[in-house]
Amino acid sequence: MSNRHHLPPISVVILLAVFLSPSPTESVKTNLEPGPISRFRDYLRINTAHPTPDYAAAVNHLTAFAATIPTLQIRTLYFTTPDKPLLLITWPGSNPSLPSVLFNSHLDSVPAEPSKWLHHPFAAHLSDDGKIYGRGAQDDKCIGMQYLEAIKHLKINLDYTPLRTVHISYVPDEEIGGFNGMAKLVESDEFKELNVGFVLDEGQASVNDEFRVFYSDRTPWNLVIKATGMPGHGSRMYDNSAMENLMKSMEIIMKFRENNFDLVKAGLAANSEVISVNPVFMKAGTESPTGFVMNMQPSEVEAGFDVRLPPTVHPDLMKRRIEDEWAPSWRNMSYEITEKGPILDYMGRPLITAIDDSNPWWSVFRQGVEEGGGKLGKPEILPSTTDARFMREKGIPTLGFSPMKNTPILLHDHNEFLETSVYLEGIKVYEHIIRSLSSFDGLLKDEIKVEDGALLMYIINN
Ligand SMILES: [Zn+2]
Repeated sequence: MSNRHHLPPISVVILLAVFLSPSPTESVKTNLEPGPISRFRDYLRINTAHPTPDYAAAVNHLTAFAATIPTLQIRTLYFTTPDKPLLLITWPGSNPSLPSVLFNSHLDSVPAEPSKWLHHPFAAHLSDDGKIYGRGAQDDKCIGMQYLEAIKHLKINLDYTPLRTVHISYVPDEEIGGFNGMAKLVESDEFKELNVGFVLDEGQASVNDEFRVFYSDRTPWNLVIKATGMPGHGSRMYDNSAMENLMKSMEIIMKFRENNFDLVKAGLAANSEVISVNPVFMKAGTESPTGFVMNMQPSEVEAGFDVRLPPTVHPDLMKRRIEDEWAPSWRNMSYEITEKGPILDYMGRPLITAIDDSNPWWSVFRQGVEEGGGKLGKPEILPSTTDARFMREKGIPTLGFSPMKNTPILLHDHNEFLETSVYLEGIKVYEHIIRSLSSFDGLLKDEIKVEDGALLMYIINN
């Protein structure tokens, strides 16, 4: 008690603090940076960009934070090599027999060229106007941290206990196809034991006031067509040269491309709703020390295409078109398709998550978003691909969602950033979504569990 009288009054301490702080803006900046922002920035500072992602450091960062939240169970799994960990965090529900809810994010990111950025892509620079610059700020380190921040708040501040078990997965290698990440996880015994009923995976930023939600991805195909023909002197005109055969195919393919693109330009379809075809390479000619032999028609030519199929297109029909029109054998042509991931689920159905009353999770998810003060835009097909396709292949309803509105779409771009206010609002939105999904006790009469390839229907009794 007596010691107190030797200390200066509190008002003096505050005044001193104000005068001693470097500048008014500096002190404002410090106040703007509560725990969640500094934890997010620390995560962004870990370089998990390909080709040498530091997965161990990312897993350590997430594990250290998760360990501060009571009751969370933390596991690191290795399905391939020791340098590709997969982190699984579990928040046990009060009724662990109910199908669980999984929140997924990937640990890796695409590379960044520091010289083309305003601020170093791994410095997590916070600008005076509240923007955090960093590779992965939007894709998708934001959601990885937001999941945990939301759970921390629900658990510690609100003492909330979920009914259903909640899992978070942090997977490697999404940006290079996911084949050593999520594709391995969904095939594992560990995944079966999670008994996942619904998945939320990454989405994309929205430039307006509504959040975007994705119910399907397009499937990428790498298509290479080859033509062969008689070689001949450059001066001779004859039918069926390799080059002529390829050019005929090129015309047909480019016409197909134009028809699809016209639908988009006319506003009749979104980019992600049509089949996109883009030529990416052509290989032809007979090389000479100075370039190409000019008086010789080559006997072999080939061209490569990036083809993206929306889930509404049956892959067999597309293959038929390629075989009959794009690379017909009667025109001395052959083709090769490399499918980048599944296109139909284990039942032979398109990889689409229902966004109507047939999927009870849909309305529970939407309700969570709305309770968090958000509004969803019209559900979309993602023009590119995410790990969601591996869960959809297992027949598990999966939506793509990243709560970033009024934000430019900067994934994979230079100067990727996220505003602190958007990031913090996202945590609030996830609090409501996690609450809504994990407390869902409705009579899910059609809740379906996949077990050894067989369908097991069971009724949940409340
Ligand atoms: Zn991503």
